[in-house]
Amino acid sequence: MNFRLIPKDLRPIAEKVDAWQRISEADALALYRSSDLNALGMIANVIRERKNGNVATYIHNRYINYSNICVLSCQFCAFAAKKRDAHAFEYGVGEIVRAVSEALPLGITEVHMVGGLHPTLKKDWYLELLCQLRALDPDLHIKAFTAIEVRHLAQRVFRMSIRDTLELLRNHGLGSITGGGAEIFDPVVRDKICHGKETAAEWLDVHRTWHRMGGRSTCTMLYGHIETLAQRIDHLRQLRELQDETGGFTGFVPFAFEPQTTVLAHIKAASAFDQLRNLAVSRIYLDNIDHLTAYWVSMGLPLAQVSLSYGVDDLHGTILEEKIFHMAGATTPQQQTVAALEHAIREAGRVPAQRDSYYRHFNGANGPAQPNGAELVCA
Ligand code: SF4
Repeated sequence: MNFRLIPKDLRPIAEKVDAWQRISEADALALYRSSDLNALGMIANVIRERKNGNVATYIHNRYINYSNICVLSCQFCAFAAKKRDAHAFEYGVGEIVRAVSEALPLGITEVHMVGGLHPTLKKDWYLELLCQLRALDPDLHIKAFTAIEVRHLAQRVFRMSIRDTLELLRNHGLGSITGGGAEIFDPVVRDKICHGKETAAEWLDVHRTWHRMGGRSTCTMLYGHIETLAQRIDHLRQLRELQDETGGFTGFVPFAFEPQTTVLAHIKAASAFDQLRNLAVSRIYLDNIDHLTAYWVSMGLPLAQVSLSYGVDDLHGTILEEKIFHMAGATTPQQQTVAALEHAIREAGRVPAQRDSYYRHFNGANGPAQPNGAELVCA
């Protein structure tokens, strides 16, 4: 690192990073308060390249939102609906299986599936869905359910412990749980943006349980609404502490709040500057999480590409059909081609690599089999 390009007040932090030392919460606050974005990017890049070299990854995946019907009404959420609402939807098992089977010839390696906390779907529906997806292709990774969906299933649907619920889901095909639902851990903010949702401790406990069972998961943060910088850092601190304990998080995926069609529409969306700064600070602070994903659905592919110089080593995936952010007003496309993701990575001077659900690279003989005649594009 060229220390002459780092402002004086950030140099002690840069020196810690250079010496492989962990930064403190006070350091993270100093980084968040800095407007020297290039210096933040330079420090973040040290950790990014230490962990991931010059490679930037993407996953070829298919999103499925099985239903938006939800017993809760989180204030930040434009996705959820009540059964009577015109925009409520619910797919049958057959429809979901058909959608995934149509995506398999394109070369997807993962289906990513989340939904609302549905009031009436039964245990057999969830288990049948997992079984039928598993039967389509035993190598397809099923990444499904946020921690709050897992709690909902455990308490209201399966009436089992969290551990037994996760065990049952895994036995029927679940590969990993998703990182959604973390929002911001601070209880006061949580009460204002997602009243009634699981607490931070409950979210962390689902992931702790899953990690202790040998499972891996991603973790997230929804920022850019009413939270303070100190509350962002408190969120990162709790993630870092759980990772110290379990080592089960594969990657961190921060989402900028999409206010347009929510009841919090008066809030200004996070700027490009704030999004890059947030990624860089996260990369520097979360020294024990190997990967940092830029969620192009919320930030757009052009900014996600730039973020490859601000600590990011992963551009998430092809996705094919995203609903949650788009119902909140996101104007980004609903999918990306492999070619577009690889072009963005190459243009930024990085080396593209397709990854699996655990961020492991596919290459050569270990790569996913491509069905004859199927093009690895999804548009
Ligand atoms: S964020 Fe999730 S739990 Fe909250 S209302 Fe939306 S779908 Fe329901």
